[in-house]
Amino acid sequence: MTIRGIAVSAGIAFGQAKVLRTQESKLDYHLLPPDQLSREQQRLNRALKALIKQSQSSADKLDPDSENYQLIQADLMLLEDEELLAELSDTIGQRQFSAALAVEHTFAKQAQAMQEIDSPYIARRAEDVLSLGQRLIRILLTGHCDNLCRLPENAIVLAKDITPAEFATLPLERVSALVLQTGGVTSHTAILARSAGIPTLMSCHWQTLEVTDGQPLAVDAINGELYLAPKPEQIEYLAAQKQQADERKSALQALKGNVTQTADGRPIPLLANVGCISEVNHLADVGAEGVGLFRTEFMFMNNHELPDENRQYQLYCDALQLLDGKPLTIRSMDIGADKEVPALAMTAEENPALGLRGVRYTLAHPDLFAAQLRAILRAANHGPIRLMFPMVNQVEELEAILTLLEQCKQALVEAEKGYGELEIGIVVETPAAVFNLESMLPLLDFVSIGTNDLTQYTMAADRSNPLLIDQYPVLSPAIIRLIAQTIECAKAANVRVSMCGELASNPKAAALLVGLGLDEFSVNLASLLEVKEELSRWSHQDCVTLAQKALQISRIDALNQLLTHCHSS
Ligand code: PEP
Ligand code: MG
Repeated sequence: MTIRGIAVSAGIAFGQAKVLRTQESKLDYHLLPPDQLSREQQRLNRALKALIKQSQSSADKLDPDSENYQLIQADLMLLEDEELLAELSDTIGQRQFSAALAVEHTFAKQAQAMQEIDSPYIARRAEDVLSLGQRLIRILLTGHCDNLCRLPENAIVLAKDITPAEFATLPLERVSALVLQTGGVTSHTAILARSAGIPTLMSCHWQTLEVTDGQPLAVDAINGELYLAPKPEQIEYLAAQKQQADERKSALQALKGNVTQTADGRPIPLLANVGCISEVNHLADVGAEGVGLFRTEFMFMNNHELPDENRQYQLYCDALQLLDGKPLTIRSMDIGADKEVPALAMTAEENPALGLRGVRYTLAHPDLFAAQLRAILRAANHGPIRLMFPMVNQVEELEAILTLLEQCKQALVEAEKGYGELEIGIVVETPAAVFNLESMLPLLDFVSIGTNDLTQYTMAADRSNPLLIDQYPVLSPAIIRLIAQTIECAKAANVRVSMCGELASNPKAAALLVGLGLDEFSVNLASLLEVKEELSRWSHQDCVTLAQKALQISRIDALNQLLTHCHSS
């Protein structure tokens, strides 16, 4: 029997089912006699201790700069929060609740207060709070610590949802695949699964099947299928697919030392998108030629203490050292919209994607912005840094940023701290930025096209809404025209054009983008070698011919057909 889902992290896996139920044992709702209350308080303390110890040991295995580490730290802060602990004690002592019931009641209250704040970030944290409470309840009810870390070998984990914080505690060496009922390609857990290389299906309603722990399963996270008790011929088919995928992966590895170039020898630099410094360690695995997008906002999200200027300076210097002379493209923090920073107490907005995000936020908070700019300027003394700004629509915004940057240089001179020169760019990610680009180019060394948001704002389709898959196409005639216009305009002013949106990571689009005149790609690490291989198959002239053809097309389906045909032929 098979059931469909969205493949958000590619791969094929075989294993045994491990069903994570939100609540595996029933709570007892009877009130306790007063003489049992102190025993209950002790049970709660022991459970808290066990969960703290388990979380701490998961954190110890992680890089302190990684997102997972920060998520566990957020959990630990909550588990040690004095107000929460006092409320738990009062609920046991005064309401005569069992420890498990007190946890359910108190964590639900805390989560509800967070949900009422009307902010997607805090709402997501509210889910983390609930799942942390469930883990504590499981310890209290089952006597052992958290079934997430008690997975069998080759576990195919089936759950309603796994929050990023829970993902951080998974023993990944035992996880063959994940199958979740919720989520989609751009969800936070999908991003984590992709970077960990765990085949993952989302929006897969496995609960409609009768799955029990230990049952054999297969996950095809290439075509989006979950197989329950797969038949021998299905296993044979999937094993052949898996072998093909594995062989392809090792064949691609052979390319990592090659210069990326078209078939007729035109070099095309391929850089990488990263979200934390530890990912920079993996650039050499695929032969990336530098970092083309460092999403710095991830250093601020999921972190209750903001990294100050010195901490940021250290992190940027660490990245430069790892890059050993290759460029580091830092994007100033792109907070706002769905990327909220709990430590900043951001104001809830009716329509955050159209609200105070990117440079709109940082320009409105110059102290925060200036600390990041000073850290980057200081780090630029130690290696080549390109600095780009998200969500710039207008030349006035760019002028305001550059004025602040000059003031930061001045402040560094006065403080007798050195600074280095930077290349300056913007992320072109709104139609306004495309149409206003000419006026900004004299102030820029490069631009990077952010197709994820450019598509969202051009098609008026929320990029993370799974209902809008057709309205948020991978590539559409409107977007090709905006890309072509951006490149043409920048080229006329001798400004380099890169692309850091996901379209650059799509091998099917690689030749088209070169044909449109793109100078450089910044792609996710998992796709880099595929893009490299694809580019090596095309002469520059063929890329140009393809781009001319694509620009004539007005239908999304015809465009897809053209690219699929060229890619496979
Ligand atoms: C983009 O919008 O294409 C982009 C690269 O930025 P992000 O995905 O971080 O919004
Ligand atoms: Mg963007």
